[in-house]
This record gives sequence, C-alpha cells and structure tokens, in this order.
Amino acid sequence: MSKIKCRNCGKELIYNVIGDIPTFPFCSERCKLVDLGQWFDEERRIEEPTTSDQTENDDA
Ligand SMILES: [Zn+2]
Repeated sequence: MSKIKCRNCGKELIYNVIGDIPTFPFCSERCKLVDLGQWFDEERRIEEPTTSDQTENDDA
C-alpha cells in the first residue's frame, strides 16, 4: 500500500497500485479538472445557463 496526497486539495489517498486511482495524482475528477483549470469553466456553464446576472436586476 502506498499513500499520496492529492495535488489539488491535499487529501490523503491510499492505493495498492496506481491503477486504483483513475484520477491519480488527484483524489477525484474534480480536483484533476481544477488543476487543469477546466473545472471553473464547467461550473460557470452550469450556474449560468444564460446571462442571468443582468436579467435578475431587470426583473426586480
Ligand atoms: Zn483532491
């Protein structure tokens, strides 16, 4: 058994073989994407399906 720390969040990961962690050297796909700078794009896409920032003010 070996241990590594997720490169993004520092969470400890325990594995027998590297293949146990598909997202090695990260704890999750999310951390992997954060490190690659891709997660933020995706998150923005989910939270802002349209340009809701401006329409909210107009409605009020
Ligand atoms: Zn992580």
